[in-house]
Amino acid sequence: MQPRFGFLRERVAIIGGMSSALELRGLSKRYDDGTLALDSLDLDVPEGSFFGLLGPNGAGKTTLIGAVCNLVRPTGGEIKVFGLPGGSLEARSMIGIAEQEPNLDRFLTVRETLVYHGGYYGMRRQDAIARADRIIDVFDLRAKADTRAPKLSGGMRRRLLLARALLHEPRLVILDEPTAGVDVELRHDLWRYIRRLHEQGTSILLTTHYLEEAETLCGEIALISAGRIVARDTADGLKRRYEAETLEDVYLKTVATGRASQEPVAP
Ligand code: ADP
Repeated sequence: MQPRFGFLRERVAIIGGMSSALELRGLSKRYDDGTLALDSLDLDVPEGSFFGLLGPNGAGKTTLIGAVCNLVRPTGGEIKVFGLPGGSLEARSMIGIAEQEPNLDRFLTVRETLVYHGGYYGMRRQDAIARADRIIDVFDLRAKADTRAPKLSGGMRRRLLLARALLHEPRLVILDEPTAGVDVELRHDLWRYIRRLHEQGTSILLTTHYLEEAETLCGEIALISAGRIVARDTADGLKRRYEAETLEDVYLKTVATGRASQEPVAP
């Protein structure tokens, strides 16, 4: 795909020496009810990396992603996206997010969904149409290009979400549980698309509950618990450090809530 935001790339290059797709410094979020969801969290996601963020429910993953995508207002700290201030228009245009819930407009067809998204990012209509046309092929959606979202299969909706996240050619793609609840075949299809994207140089931040998915895809993994990063390394590095056979063992030793062991054991 051709870079659309060439002028931004140049600007970033001029600033120079930057190697982080995402830099979070002392990031905090306290919700109005007093819940501290992010607790002065520090994280660097290197440019070009395939980075996994793992942690139990309530650890702060959704809040972190929301803060990065300008959907949640942090109460402290700093966010930089390719060196640019988080929340700025430039930073936002460098991020694409495929959210967990298929939040598609039920009145729009596949093609319209993509073209509208292009408009949202300020693309000229003709450009958005051309880009949508190309991405429809990349995600094997051609046969359903004129079908409205409710008539798509679950697998097609997932592919459309991913296509929409990529339409404006973001340099950092955030995938929030992209394969939750999908069958094995579709999971492998989605992995194939995502891997290809990464090979083309896109930085990827992935959250998943499937530890084997993180181990297969991610070069580096950060474990988050109670709004803080508690460990960060390659899957092998984590296993060595925690003397664990599997990533699941690492997870259980570091961030698991202990819920499983508290559950009553059947006699
Ligand atoms: P995760 O995505 O890892 O499950 P979340 O970011 O959703 O974690 O939640 C982190 C903490 O913040 C949890 O304790 C959750 O209950 C709380 N939380 C999330 N959203 C809100 C909100 N809108 N208001 C109050 N508390 C919230």
